Amino acid sequence: MRPTIDATPLAHSLPLVQPALIDPSAAPASSASAASSATLSPTIPSVLFVDQSGQLGGAEFALLQLAGSCIARSEVVLLSDGPFRARLETLGARVQVLNDARVSGIVRQASGSNCLRVVPGILRQVRAIAARARKFDVLFLNTQKALVLGALGKPLHRKPVIWYQHDILTREHFGRVQLSVIKWLVRLAVDHVVANSQASKRSLIALTGIAADSVPVIYNGVDADAFKRIDDSDIATLRRRLGLPEHAWLAGLFGRLAPWKGQHIALEAMARLPGVHLVLVGAPLFGEDAYAQRLHEQAEALGVADRVRFAGFQDDVPVWMKAMDVILHTSTEPEPFGRVIVEGMAAARPVIAAAAGGVTEIVRHRRNGWLVKPGDVAALADAIGALRDDPALAQRLANQALADAQTEFSVDQYLQRMMQAIGRAAR
Ligand code: UDP
Repeated sequence: MRPTIDATPLAHSLPLVQPALIDPSAAPASSASAASSATLSPTIPSVLFVDQSGQLGGAEFALLQLAGSCIARSEVVLLSDGPFRARLETLGARVQVLNDARVSGIVRQASGSNCLRVVPGILRQVRAIAARARKFDVLFLNTQKALVLGALGKPLHRKPVIWYQHDILTREHFGRVQLSVIKWLVRLAVDHVVANSQASKRSLIALTGIAADSVPVIYNGVDADAFKRIDDSDIATLRRRLGLPEHAWLAGLFGRLAPWKGQHIALEAMARLPGVHLVLVGAPLFGEDAYAQRLHEQAEALGVADRVRFAGFQDDVPVWMKAMDVILHTSTEPEPFGRVIVEGMAAARPVIAAAAGGVTEIVRHRRNGWLVKPGDVAALADAIGALRDDPALAQRLANQALADAQTEFSVDQYLQRMMQAIGRAAR
């Protein structure tokens, strides 16, 4: 019997733009997302994108799709170098790296004195970004540090500033000084904010007091076709490479290794699930090496090391996801969005996710996935066990997940809404 797919749409706060604003024929042929992306027509403003990271996280994958869809009329400034630059350049994007080691060293929990020491470096970067921004119609800031440096230069460049907010702005994630800086910059120097989820948006409204109806929510888009291209032989090859027993039941957890991503919770759950194997896909991208080391020690101490693989950072996420029986999301703090969840859905795999932040806008419990309390090892282990023991249920959730990923989180909806927001910012 064919499983029923629930087609109830999830809420989006912006209607799609008129198709006339999009020129699909101009999509870059080399782009990985070209098949499902569209390109700005010449009537769309030129854009300078700024991102602080050279590493590939969720915000950078979102920008990769956007910048890759309008390479002829945009440039990307990165505040540090890394594999993100190569990925942008492969799409044909023009990239400038404006790196200042001391400014890059400001940590999230920045103190006032720590900030003072880097003022000269900050001013240099503010001036450099402003000089580039003057050549474009819109300045698009994609991360926190990009927001600070790009918005501070507003009196110099005088261009409309749009900020794509990828974070939940609370003390769980940020220092007091940083939140205060964000609050005042948003109030005084940012023309438009786009939030990546309702959860992110709520935190912005609470912090800044700006009008809720001025902040559209635009969800990230995931290219479901990239997952469809994976076939059984790709999966079998990968499983052999991992040295797994032939019929191993496999859970996958994707994302950088960082305490708040909760890989330690998944390891603890493994100790309760003899026979289940776990692959951790991701690396410590921002100095969390001590945590990565602790995870190895924890796996040994729990006696699960022979059932846990540390795969490191992988470029080909679709085949890794398709090789799993279940995808786990274990963040212990509210996740602003969680691309990995939508990717798991696009891979047509059941997803078990920590119910906080933007996650609850994506996953509906026992409809298109499974929600557990963040940090609750017993609940996570029970959920994994339930899906392993009931393949029909797992399949039903996966079918609905795929349908939702395709309809609610497509790259097209993401690009169209984002282009509409950029167009509004330029007016
Ligand atoms: N990712 C990847 N390779 C890895 C681990 C993660 O390409 O080895 C990707 C993952 O597929 C997702 C992104 O990194 O697209 C992480 O985004 P998410 O929103 O889940 O987390 P964030 O990095 O924003 O905290």
